[in-house]
Amino acid sequence: MVSGLVVGRLALVTGAGSGIGRAACQVLSKEGATVIAADRNYEAAVQTIKTHTALAPGTNGGEEHSAVELDVSNSKAVQDLVQDTLKQYKKPPCIIVNSAGITRDNWMLKLSEEDYDSVLNVNLKGTFLVMQAFAKAMAESSVSGSVINISSIVGKYGNMGQTNYASSKAGVVAMTQSAAKELGKFNIRVNAILPGFIDTPIIKTVPDKVKEQIMKLVPLGRLGNPAEVAEVIAFLSSDKSSFITGAAIDVSGGY
Ligand code: NAP
Repeated sequence: MVSGLVVGRLALVTGAGSGIGRAACQVLSKEGATVIAADRNYEAAVQTIKTHTALAPGTNGGEEHSAVELDVSNSKAVQDLVQDTLKQYKKPPCIIVNSAGITRDNWMLKLSEEDYDSVLNVNLKGTFLVMQAFAKAMAESSVSGSVINISSIVGKYGNMGQTNYASSKAGVVAMTQSAAKELGKFNIRVNAILPGFIDTPIIKTVPDKVKEQIMKLVPLGRLGNPAEVAEVIAFLSSDKSSFITGAAIDVSGGY
């Protein structure tokens, strides 16, 4: 008998091959969900399912977790995934976690148009494409659900070297609030999480000196752990947060 916050629910997690997305798969599966791990790096998504998820609730003849290759900025690939999911699971996921994201940091005066576009394409447009396609599938199947978009604390306060990234993440919050207003009538909740500095591969490019400076601004005095973000994702996925929509929640150690 599986017990947990999201027993029997189907969850799609993008960026699931690493960091926060991988931790989300771990926690959601532990809480009883069946997980579709999507990443542009297919092998990494397979690894998430193989070694980082709890046994699928349906291993005795029901649903199984799955790993898929997905570039969230490719609308055709996103549409195809909706169809593949409906075929495989006979229903759309009712939990959508948009965790795929990239950085291409540079000083604003030196930032190339290409690096501006690529960050906006993945972080903002990719979140939009996945949310739009899967919310549509939910609404058409009269499935209520929860969409969790991973923004960043940098979207709220800005950061040197991240004009592209900060813009994309501020956009994710505004998009989340707008979508929440539209999707409430379908009983689909949409919320954003604003992580602070979390110990994942995405921050490996931040120089140690800069990290030390940042730590001085974090009241809890340390980097966050991906699991600490994933626990909030699980809460927002579950009925424990049934009256929360359009919210933007900092998970930043107080930064
Ligand atoms: P991560 O460890 O780098 O994980 C991100 C994953 O997304 C990687 O597997 C990455 O693949 C994948 N990805 C990148 N572009 C993609 C695309 N177009 N389609 C599908 N998958 C794609 O980073 P993370 O820290 O877990 O970040 C997860 C989310 O949290 C991101 O949106 C990030 O902006 C946000 N966030 C992170 C922090 C932090 O401090 N870690 C803070 C605030 C917000 P590749 O490895 O091939 O790029």
